[in-house]
Amino acid sequence: MPIYEFKCAACGKKFDLLLSLKERDKKVKCPECSSDQVERQLSSFFAPGAGGASCTASSCAGCSGCGGSH
Ligand SMILES: [Zn+2]
Repeated sequence: MPIYEFKCAACGKKFDLLLSLKERDKKVKCPECSSDQVERQLSSFFAPGAGGASCTASSCAGCSGCGGSH
């Protein structure tokens, strides 16, 4: 199940949610202020240092391990 990272446009709170495909499109509310003005960020599954696979090869131009972050 993919992890989605959200940022609340109202208060700036960032939070992660595990959403199934079924839940993916439903309205997400901020746990901090209950606003539904939340923006979905890049999945933290692909974010470096998030505990997933990370590619450290300096010659890499972007693979599934590093998400093209270097
Ligand atoms: Zn908020």
